[in-house]
Amino acid sequence: MKILVTNDDGIFADGLWILVRELISIAEVVVVAPDREQSAAGTAVTLWEPLRIRRVNAVVPGVETYAVEGTPSDSVLLALGSLIRGKIDLVVSGINWGMNLGDDIYISGTVSAALQGYLHGHPALAVSSQRDSEVSFQTAARLATLLAGRIKASPSPNNLFLNVNVPNVPLARINRIQITRLANESHINTVTEGSDGKRNYYWLVRQRQDGSRDRKTDVWAVDHGHISVTPLFSSLPTKRLSALLNNLCSGLLEELTGSAG
Ligand code: MN
Repeated sequence: MKILVTNDDGIFADGLWILVRELISIAEVVVVAPDREQSAAGTAVTLWEPLRIRRVNAVVPGVETYAVEGTPSDSVLLALGSLIRGKIDLVVSGINWGMNLGDDIYISGTVSAALQGYLHGHPALAVSSQRDSEVSFQTAARLATLLAGRIKASPSPNNLFLNVNVPNVPLARINRIQITRLANESHINTVTEGSDGKRNYYWLVRQRQDGSRDRKTDVWAVDHGHISVTPLFSSLPTKRLSALLNNLCSGLLEELTGSAG
């Protein structure tokens, strides 16, 4: 199995390498990621200037690793169009430092990178977790690895594009992996204004509201300590997708808990 790993936090972000350390137990991994932080880059691609790539020393020895002077989407496009020869079985983007939930996924570089994988005919996973939580990053990395194996074995892998969020809760206290839909809410909803003495300046600020009341949403799930798995796009009819997802997630939490050692 061959997996392309990317992110939007930059090639040396902890989350990416925690993920790679787990994925190499089941697959050959190639890392192609932006050379710097590109969070909230959304779906941006670079069309009006050339892109440069640098081969860099991997944080995990032996992993083929490229840093791209560009966006998360650029990284996946270069990986699929030029850097990687042969078949790719899965694109994984993450682990993002911070959740990607609700309408905010439309500005997420993490989700957009996975989207490019999906649009090019590959199954894709975007994986995010709570900031500053080593515990939830490990859980997210192991979960992504289990999901990768299950996706590879699934009947219609190319129809899967999943957004996975892992809350900051010890694994033993997570009581389910919930298949969700995106909450219809954004957390980047506040502008603060100030003055530097000459001119006014403005900050767009993220502010979490009270969690969503709709129990089927990703926001509700992570607020209640569940792992959220949201299907984003699929060409499958709703019923078939639903069956595929149920199959993919069935017994997954037990397997995840068992794998924690
Ligand atoms: Mn990010």
